[in-house]
Amino acid sequence: QCFCQLSGKVEDCCCDVEAVHNLNKEVYPKILEIVKQNYFKFFKVNLGRSCPFWPDDGTCSLKDCSVQTCKEDEVPEGVKGYHDPKKSYNHKPLKVQKENSKRQTVKEQPKKCKGDNSTLGDVNIHLSEEDKQAFETWQQYDDAENSFCQPEDELSADLKYVNLLLNPERFTNYKGDSANRVWYSIYQENCFKLPNPYTEKYEASSALNQLCLEKRVFYRVISGMHASINTHLSAQYLFKGNGFMKPEWRPNVEEFKKRFDPEKTKGQGPSWLKNIYFLYLLVWRAVIKAGPYWKQEGFFTGHKSEDGLVKKHIGDLLLQSRNCPSTFDETMMFTGDPVTSRGLKEEFRKKFRNITRIMDCVGCQKCRLWGKVQTQGIGTALKILFSSNQFAEDTVSPSFRLKRNEIVALFNALGRYSSSIHYVQMFRSLTRR
Ligand code: FAD
Repeated sequence: QCFCQLSGKVEDCCCDVEAVHNLNKEVYPKILEIVKQNYFKFFKVNLGRSCPFWPDDGTCSLKDCSVQTCKEDEVPEGVKGYHDPKKSYNHKPLKVQKENSKRQTVKEQPKKCKGDNSTLGDVNIHLSEEDKQAFETWQQYDDAENSFCQPEDELSADLKYVNLLLNPERFTNYKGDSANRVWYSIYQENCFKLPNPYTEKYEASSALNQLCLEKRVFYRVISGMHASINTHLSAQYLFKGNGFMKPEWRPNVEEFKKRFDPEKTKGQGPSWLKNIYFLYLLVWRAVIKAGPYWKQEGFFTGHKSEDGLVKKHIGDLLLQSRNCPSTFDETMMFTGDPVTSRGLKEEFRKKFRNITRIMDCVGCQKCRLWGKVQTQGIGTALKILFSSNQFAEDTVSPSFRLKRNEIVALFNALGRYSSSIHYVQMFRSLTRR
């Protein structure tokens, strides 16, 4: 039996592994269909920001770390301008006068944001008064209490669209000091002093039990994301070619075992894998909770039939909540003494926000891209779960808003954890042979 044959309750959640498998059987093909759509495949991201926490050691020059950004004309107008006529907070697309329209590969040396708001590098952006006001509104909105992510600088010339389907998350060979420093910093400095995987006497499970629910949840979220990344790189591993064989991307069972076998991970591997299930249920719960919001969202791309199709796919996805009504229960968190719980929630939010900033320290562009998609997706899930009084039965408060990028990140994050669970089951059948 494979160590990845998980069973029992998903800790700190309301259901067990078997229920997650049943749910995911339905969710996986549907979420794959959703993230293929134009609305969801273009993610706007700044991969050129420098690390705010330690001197930048630049990005690696590994071939599989490079990211292809989009040509101007590849991105649908509706996606670029998000001028959905139904929305009250529209702003017109920026008037970018000069833009390099060739497909670009992001340079390996991170670029710094230059200049003031009106002239950024060699791209001139002229803002009308209306645009400026719209940006100010967004800025205030970003600073609002409920944001769990460091917002992107909307005016930076380094903000580019990336087609996520053309830049899949997979093995890049990013490792060593740079990768270690990022993970170490996430666990140690930003994670409520959680179990330290780098110390000799590392017994995460007993250390975890001593933490309160909120801190355990924080740890499971980070550990689940880490395990999902390592599952993806094992499932889509690059086998180098030789004189007889072409290079090939396919599952590497040995790599998966090295990362999760209890004998090689001081017994921790299976619990790390279970944290993927936890994270999946948390993100799923957020998608379901925001159901009323998806009903009113236009998923605007500028093509009516495409927008309608996305809405239909999302409607189908939401129907799956009937199969697994209770998953993660956010109402158990931040209860008790109001002053203490408010403080804890604020700390939780700030620490998670810091983690979104640490993504600028990831030295491999491809890993940085998917790290940003996932942390922003989880941040959006947390915002949905912990924005008080925004959702009731079938309605959503008019003050609750999500930007297109937040929606894209949320559904792509769900897609990551859904495919990780699918891959864990695939490894189970591969090790059975
Ligand atoms: P690491 O995965 O670096 O882990 C370090 C230590 O953390 C381990 O020794 C273990 O004690 C502990 N640990 C491991 N997993 C968990 C867990 N789930 N929960 C708790 N503790 C754990 N590489 C790619 O090939 N493709 C990618 O797309 C990619 N994306 C990345 C994104 C980010 C944000 C980062 C920081 C790294 C990424 N990497 C990626 C690198 C990859 O995650 C590993 O860091 C790298 O393969 C080196 O692995 P390692 O064996 O040193 O252990």
